[in-house]
Amino acid sequence: MRIQNGYKRLSVANGTTILTAKPFAYVLQSLHRSEKCDHCLQSGKLFRCSGCQYVYYCNRSCQQSSWSTHRKECANLKRISPKVIPDMARLMARIIIKLNQGGGEEIGYYSNTSYRKFKDLMSHYSDIKRDKKRMEHFVCLCGVLHTFLEDVPIPNSAELMGIYGRICINSFNILDLDMNSIGIGIYLGPSVMDHSCKPNAVATFEGATIIIRTIEDLPCLDWSQARISYIDILKTTKDRRAELQSSYYFWCNCKKCEEPEPMAEAAACPNKCCTHPCSPSADICENCNTKFPEEFEETFEEVSEFTAHHLQNMKNVAYLDICKMCLEKQEGILHPLNVQHVQTLQAAFDSSISLQHWEEAESYAERLINGYLAYYGEVQPLIGILYLMIGKIQLYLEKPKLALEALKKASAVLTITHGEKHAVMREYLRPLLYQATMEGV
Ligand SMILES: [Zn+2]
Ligand SMILES: [Zn+2]
Ligand SMILES: [Zn+2]
Ligand SMILES: [Zn+2]
Repeated sequence: MRIQNGYKRLSVANGTTILTAKPFAYVLQSLHRSEKCDHCLQSGKLFRCSGCQYVYYCNRSCQQSSWSTHRKECANLKRISPKVIPDMARLMARIIIKLNQGGGEEIGYYSNTSYRKFKDLMSHYSDIKRDKKRMEHFVCLCGVLHTFLEDVPIPNSAELMGIYGRICINSFNILDLDMNSIGIGIYLGPSVMDHSCKPNAVATFEGATIIIRTIEDLPCLDWSQARISYIDILKTTKDRRAELQSSYYFWCNCKKCEEPEPMAEAAACPNKCCTHPCSPSADICENCNTKFPEEFEETFEEVSEFTAHHLQNMKNVAYLDICKMCLEKQEGILHPLNVQHVQTLQAAFDSSISLQHWEEAESYAERLINGYLAYYGEVQPLIGILYLMIGKIQLYLEKPKLALEALKKASAVLTITHGEKHAVMREYLRPLLYQATMEGV
């Protein structure tokens, strides 16, 4: 990115870093408390803070860098122990402490001359106030904060709600190299970015630092046109819009939401050779004229409800036998690119990875990649990571030639989404590429 003298605007190629920022405030998810450093978010050999006995660090240097943030928190964590504090409350506490120390003046640039302070972040105050679920959560957080921050001046309720709203609307999930969420952070400059379900930019992380890169060529760097996605876009338009409305209070009118989506809720054609996405209520396939069996629509609804029920139950942990049961029922009923089918494959892949069933993981991944390409587009961090995992599995299964092919595809995507210098390339992809090349000869 270069804006020369503010006049001449240069086009921006895909794979350009347009913004990097350190967080204004962040927390590591308590789930990862004992396996990642509370400061730099790296895993490895850690030691526990002797004050609170709650957070862990790599070394003295990480602990010292964290001390200005952790000092007030440390004593309070110790006092409330063995009780613990929810992640969201801890993030709010950190922001309150920071604002008390003058953090409101901190500036986050998003261009040479434009910046934001914490107060510039949207709070959606009146939307939050009308939102029953969020208000319940807020009241509960206030209770926690008043017990937790005994010796810290707490702002009045309206100001607290402003802070809460700013977190709800502007926070980023901090992701590890595998794209799993490990923390939550507020970034002042990047909060300027709007949403699209077909984004032209993506956010990745190195530790707690956010890196925003373009995944399409842009005619110029116009912050009103550079878009990231706020949510997982592997969903139907209806579900994406509902999630954006309930979480961010806007009705999405992006290009993708305005387009028809023939695949998302499609049925499979009864003719196995035909790949046409059919309507579940159709009598015959529009493409090949094959007739649907009697009561097909009822069967379709049944399978769809069955799948929805189990996917909902497996939101946090996927079970391989349940995924298999869903996939079996979906066979010949749901179109291979139906969102529910792709989501089930994703759950099946995740669970076979955690069970270390590598052959199964490989075969699910190969089916999953088509779904990913259909919903995420060709250049997206998750696509790069999926190819990388396929390569890794294939190396493990002693298929170095196939692995090399997958890893090259991973490289083509990750070079754009993450860039050559990113830890994912240095620590993850290149060693695998080297191994695949050596074992393949
Ligand atoms: Zn560290
Ligand atoms: Zn401590
Ligand atoms: Zn949209
Ligand atoms: Zn057909």
